[in-house]
Amino acid sequence: MQISSVFDSGNIEVIAAESPSQVRLAIRPDAGGNHYQWFHFRVTGARGQALRLRIENAAKASYPDGWVDYRACASYDRKHWFRVPTTYDGTALTIEHTPAHDSVYFAYFAPYSHERHAERIAHWQALPDVRLECVGRSVLGRDVDLLRIGEEGAGRRVAWIIARQHPGETMAEWFVEGLLDRLLDPHEPVARALRERMTFFVVPNMNPDGSTLGHLRNNAAGANLNREWAGPTEQRSPEVLGVRRRMEATGVDFFLDVHGDEALPYNFISGAEGIPSWSAAQERAQLVYGEALLAASPDFQTIEGYARSDPGKANMTMATTWVAERFGCLAMTFEQPFKDTKDTPQPDGWSPPRARRLGHAQLDAIRAVLEHLPEARR
Ligand code: ZN
Repeated sequence: MQISSVFDSGNIEVIAAESPSQVRLAIRPDAGGNHYQWFHFRVTGARGQALRLRIENAAKASYPDGWVDYRACASYDRKHWFRVPTTYDGTALTIEHTPAHDSVYFAYFAPYSHERHAERIAHWQALPDVRLECVGRSVLGRDVDLLRIGEEGAGRRVAWIIARQHPGETMAEWFVEGLLDRLLDPHEPVARALRERMTFFVVPNMNPDGSTLGHLRNNAAGANLNREWAGPTEQRSPEVLGVRRRMEATGVDFFLDVHGDEALPYNFISGAEGIPSWSAAQERAQLVYGEALLAASPDFQTIEGYARSDPGKANMTMATTWVAERFGCLAMTFEQPFKDTKDTPQPDGWSPPRARRLGHAQLDAIRAVLEHLPEARR
């Protein structure tokens, strides 16, 4: 039996693997050392043998509550990811599975590879009315890809959608893939109606270094990008610096920052209610968006989520709060589960096909809120 993780987004350390029933593993921390939870590794040579994989440093992971009621993802063909029996005893996370084939992959959530990212970007950028910009470079020199859909300027409303500031939240890029596929479908009437009136700026992966390195939250310099928006720097957070600079040029009327939440079994939005300049117009737009998305997708809900910040008490280093304050626009963080939706569970849990459909549904909600978007500050 062999266990490996030296590949795109791989992460595991093998403590002992002499016996398939007593494999001892640990997750490697992100650069910066303060976060870990993402894992992704391959087991070969264990076909037909009952694997018992014990991740021994699970209790000190960033979100130990994320392990409660969690089931690990597994795949033979790297296309379909299914869930396997997983238990958490308060110390270690134990994954049990008897592989039906010679090679099996395990991951915290279905990975979204750099190769897939590159292929989809290459496909989309060649479609009519789409432009590609490298809006910045990561710490290690990777491109931060920005797709622009529609012309800039001329009184059009501007939507910005970014994903994977936290690289281990791969469902965020699956979601954006679904959104873009529907937005760029020439036969899709809602997409056509939106594209007549809005220009979209989309960054499917804000943190390409962290994604490839198998990080949960940080970039290669150890920065949590969603705490860098108040003062990004070239050394520590060039990914945010480049995007923020481009936003200053375009303005923002609608902003969505797509994430995954380790613990909560729900899809939900988190707004910018605690910013100093929070307005009735922002509040109203957020309500309209939420109601429209409820109508468009039963996988979304508005009951459960994060506690609302008190007035003036928002953390202003985050993308959503910084954008909402700077532009006076509707800005939201979108959270999806690693586990499943409690109200609409499925055998594979939350999954790439479901995240893509939730991305599709965004267009219905954006269309509904278009008339209600506040006049943004330039
Ligand atoms: Zn996140």
